[in-house]
Amino acid sequence: MDNKGLVFDIKRDCSEDGPGIRTTVFFKGCPLSCIWCQNPEGKRFAPETDIHGEKIGHWFTVEELTYRLIQDKPFFATTGGGVTLSGGESTLQMDFAGRLLQALKHEEVHTALETSGFFNYQNFKQKMLPWLDLIYFDIKLIDAAASKKYCGRSNAGILNNFVRLLDDAEIPVIPRIPLIPGITTTEENLKGIAAFLKKCGVKSCSLMPYNPLWNDKVEKLGLQPRYRHMEFMTSAEQKACISCFQK
Ligand code: SF4
Repeated sequence: MDNKGLVFDIKRDCSEDGPGIRTTVFFKGCPLSCIWCQNPEGKRFAPETDIHGEKIGHWFTVEELTYRLIQDKPFFATTGGGVTLSGGESTLQMDFAGRLLQALKHEEVHTALETSGFFNYQNFKQKMLPWLDLIYFDIKLIDAAASKKYCGRSNAGILNNFVRLLDDAEIPVIPRIPLIPGITTTEENLKGIAAFLKKCGVKSCSLMPYNPLWNDKVEKLGLQPRYRHMEFMTSAEQKACISCFQK
């Protein structure tokens, strides 16, 4: 499948993954293994089928995918929108994702990336960064051992990539913190992230409240959830998280 990229979903009319009306491309495959992963169908870097026999994941050439994505170019143009690469983790398919971004920029489409930050920095800088307009960078856990325990990998490379990106990128790099009750929402973790961001000179970040609806997706894959929390966050819980980022 050289030259092709593996994608498990393409969502049009998205308004949460960047400015304006956007189409979000969900790449299949992720090097992390977060126990709360809200897109479990995006984890494996291989096509698979769910318990109903429905296929998850399709291979595309850059040309095929670009052709589909530019169908909404008029909406992108009138709303200031564009295309967002999400996942899974698109940087796992760095060559393909870079060529897709290049093709989109050739079509004058605004490009954004949602990333876990776990990638080879030099490759990213060379193959993807030049064709990006906006980056949402996840910072989940500040403690390396907790990151290893809950996401399967140490966060050392992720934090290092974030610092290097702030230096190199001439585009907005917005940190996003997923609020996972009992895991990322501890005062110690959030205050630790706040201190890290302050040290980096970052003045704002985005907090992403927990959404429990992913549990159905895990069951559809025939898997057992590794994290159970079925409630949405209350506004008091959200406010407590926000307060960790205020002076
Ligand atoms: S980084 Fe994102 S896609 Fe990958 S396992 Fe974690 S939550 Fe899932």
